Amino acid sequence: MTCVGPENPDQARLLRLLRDDGPRSRVELGDAVGLSRTRLVAEVGRLVAQGLVETAGPAASRGGRRSSLLRVAARVRFAGIAVGPAQVDVALTDGELNVLARRREPVDVRLGPEPTLARALELLGKLRAELGVGPLTGVGVALPAPVAFREGAPVSPPALPGWHGYGVRDALAAELGCPVLVDNDANVLALGEQHTGTGRAFDDFLYLKLGTAVGCGLVLGGTLHRGATSGAGAIGHLRLADDGPRCACGENGCLEAYCSDDALVREALAAVGAGRSAALAARSAGTGTLTVADVGKAAVAGDAAAQALIRDAARRLGRVLVGLVNFVNPGIVIIGGAASGVGPTMLAEIRSVVYRRSPPLATGSLPIVLSDLDDSAAMVGAARLISDNVFAAP
Ligand SMILES: [Zn+2]
Repeated sequence: MTCVGPENPDQARLLRLLRDDGPRSRVELGDAVGLSRTRLVAEVGRLVAQGLVETAGPAASRGGRRSSLLRVAARVRFAGIAVGPAQVDVALTDGELNVLARRREPVDVRLGPEPTLARALELLGKLRAELGVGPLTGVGVALPAPVAFREGAPVSPPALPGWHGYGVRDALAAELGCPVLVDNDANVLALGEQHTGTGRAFDDFLYLKLGTAVGCGLVLGGTLHRGATSGAGAIGHLRLADDGPRCACGENGCLEAYCSDDALVREALAAVGAGRSAALAARSAGTGTLTVADVGKAAVAGDAAAQALIRDAARRLGRVLVGLVNFVNPGIVIIGGAASGVGPTMLAEIRSVVYRRSPPLATGSLPIVLSDLDDSAAMVGAARLISDNVFAAP
């Protein structure tokens, strides 16, 4: 296994600074980390000797002699792998976590971890060949599943039957010969927000992931909070009602059973069946089915039934969020993953519930916003996950 990495906390800080802020001159780096000139030169020299940092060209002059910019070396290459409920998505990034190349493919994840991961490795191999990328510095993996972080394995994942307890991290690390970390998708997306999204400006934020599954990533004091057994943020299966709709986990009345994409579609089909929406009926005509995108389009077009069922789901999310924001007191709530057309209606209702039901100390100035990242957020987040680990002091 290629083991490169910083030798001490100062080198780790320098690497993270170059990763997060891009090329910097020695003077700027010294100011930012508060190191003496001599010490800085020594630490940078070690990072250059290890092949982690390189010269990027001349820096803008500050009036003194010309200095050169430093950056994370071009040989530092991370990869992100995101397994979705029906696809794999892989990308290569540079040391600043910019996506250099990416491939996505539909995959039947129910066939189990081995064929799915083999496909991901194949796609990654193609990307590396195309870009001429040698050994990878590290790989981050997002799974649509609860993940035991220390073991690098999913735990009883409803969306990934047959994956329970499979050592995804160790299997990939053995194949790739580099460090690998695995986490659930809500956490990885929160890291994507932290690196390149709205979360960048906040030390404490809550990322609410909607879509096929509902989850939450929590960044506290600038660090992703996983909890004692990496179960933090698993809000999708909080029980709202014992007699509620059936959930993918086998229980009834979970938050996810009210608010996931499938739940919205279920309610939309019920509205069609009850003759409450001509717009949804027209969209389902012929096939007898609907997608969450249909629900979003009907809502945007002003269909009252579609809007009402989105608001109803959002109200339940809002009530859960009231508890979370009062307990955690985040600086911002970022909501991602909502289907196009669904997000704005959902956001308006969530805001209304949270602001109405919370005491002012926790929510007086709390922004609640939709994520402005595109669907590469998981790739950036996965790269961030592993780079935080590789760029850490031993
Ligand atoms: Zn459930």
